[in-house]
Amino acid sequence: MRFSTLTSYFERLEKTTKRLEMIDILTELLKKTDTNELEPVIYMVIGQLGPKYDEPALGIAERMAIEALINATGVSQKKVQDTLNQVGDLGEAAYILLSKERSSTLDAFFETTGEDETEERDPEVLEIWRQLHQIAKLTGEGSAKAKVRALTKILTSVSPKGAKYIMRIVLGKMRLGVADMTVVEAITRAYIGDKTKKPIVELAYFKTSNLAEIAKIAKEKGIEALEKIKVEPGRPVQCMAAQRLSDPEEILEKLGGKCQLEYKYDGLRFQYHYTKDGKAKLWSRRQEDLTSMFPDVINALNTAFGETPIITEGEIVAYNFQENKIVDFQTLMQRRRKYDIEKMIQEVPSKVFLFDILYADNQDITSRPLPERRKILEQHTHVFKKVDLSTAEIIDNVDDFNVFFDKAIEENCEGVMAKDISEKSIYEAGARGWLWIKYKADYKSELADTFDLVVVGAWHGRGRRGGFYGTLLMAAYDSEEGVFRTLCKLGSGLNDAHLEFLKQKLDELKLPEKPKDVISKLEPDIWVKPEIVMEITATEITNSPVHTVLDENGNGLALRFPRFTGRFRDDKSPYDATTVQEIRELKKLKR
Ligand code: ATP
Repeated sequence: MRFSTLTSYFERLEKTTKRLEMIDILTELLKKTDTNELEPVIYMVIGQLGPKYDEPALGIAERMAIEALINATGVSQKKVQDTLNQVGDLGEAAYILLSKERSSTLDAFFETTGEDETEERDPEVLEIWRQLHQIAKLTGEGSAKAKVRALTKILTSVSPKGAKYIMRIVLGKMRLGVADMTVVEAITRAYIGDKTKKPIVELAYFKTSNLAEIAKIAKEKGIEALEKIKVEPGRPVQCMAAQRLSDPEEILEKLGGKCQLEYKYDGLRFQYHYTKDGKAKLWSRRQEDLTSMFPDVINALNTAFGETPIITEGEIVAYNFQENKIVDFQTLMQRRRKYDIEKMIQEVPSKVFLFDILYADNQDITSRPLPERRKILEQHTHVFKKVDLSTAEIIDNVDDFNVFFDKAIEENCEGVMAKDISEKSIYEAGARGWLWIKYKADYKSELADTFDLVVVGAWHGRGRRGGFYGTLLMAAYDSEEGVFRTLCKLGSGLNDAHLEFLKQKLDELKLPEKPKDVISKLEPDIWVKPEIVMEITATEITNSPVHTVLDENGNGLALRFPRFTGRFRDDKSPYDATTVQEIRELKKLKR
């Protein structure tokens, strides 16, 4: 394919903002593309020089691109700068200037450098691709000059319109608006035909992160070959993501009554690869190469796994080894830099917690259920000071859920991850499904005020809270009507001593039926006389149809992530509790 043909597709893509139209144009382009041209065509369309995880850096700064344009046109620096100021884009400036001017000294320029100006004014796409990659390979002394020269050569070998896109590609500003998933859709249309097969093409992409590769396979071998694609160390896999719910009961229900709960570490997610030829790589969730930023983590993971091909995932956290404590996320962020790395390793030591494994024993294990993967992870990891597995437990009731959550918060985690453990609990590359559900409370941004709420009912505890009351029904006082209105269920922040005290006290206060002055839509296991006042913290006041504190429009309100602070307010009578009116005001303030 000639570069001018590709340029005409760039133009058509640039003109539309409609995704469907883009897919049509791309499909047409792919149908015209030879297999060996798929890589340049696909990556240039999205403005890259290869897959993100393996993209060569061109090393062309804007001033170098300007210099190349001056060389190519023979106009003054001022003129280039003026044009650039006028149109705001060096690509457009290149188009305008090259349409009008072509340096008369250009031939001399190339003569002095001992190179021929490309005779051909319309090179092959593959030739341009080769030259761009050549630029990336130029390093060391004098390389800046050589890069400018090579770019000048490309700019003068293509049409002014072509030069516009070349400029944008080398500056990383292609921006045709073509997303990776749009290309996936076009690959499906062009080579598979059957739209219902898109999920297979998508998954192949999520497993390889390489659009050109799946395009080649789709074109040459078809859908069966795509279905067989495996994850491979050395090629990052698109990370599985989590859904979010804010009620443990709902989470358990969603996961079939039972799940694996894990600490949710507030750090940096990574994917560690150890390839068959002995290379260790660390990628971020967005496939940024972290290898050189975290040599200590690479070393630690190397100790943990040895020289065996592996893909594993976990979270890097800043860690205080003297006190055995996780340090906050902000501290870890100091490690995200490209210089002074050794110094930062000393200042901000880190530890990793592993939570998944995608490849082991020379096999892709992403389609195995989570319990099996966890076992494989345990078998393969040599746990030591710097590498541990995520704290995890199988949980089947709300009370144990709350106990586990409390422990996570106490140990400086931001919450918990609830994970499906059924047969269908595969590692879903690139998906945000319901196999993982996050439950996190940002107590750092908690409401400045605490609430003093009254216990009006309770539910019998299960699991670790068996024999106690595991969850309490909490109410605020409606001073206008002289009644108690429920605001939340409380299961978090209760330690063993609290549970024991509450068991004894609530049994004393137990009533055969709901007291007249309690307004509730919920039916706890026992009702109690409103008497015990407890101090509660929460992250926000939200709307909820479940509770009976109402806002001025008659909509129910509730506390999000309510948590006992540990303080029983025995100095307060239930009528001194936080009032419904106060809660309304607070909710208004938060708007
Ligand atoms: P999202 O990942 O949902 O797009 P986000 O970047 O805000 O949003 P979080 O809301 O923090 O991420 O939730 C998911 C993240 O939690 C994961 O990407 C991972 O980095 C982190 N995480 C911490 N602990 C675990 C764990 N045990 N299992 C899985 N992920 C965990």
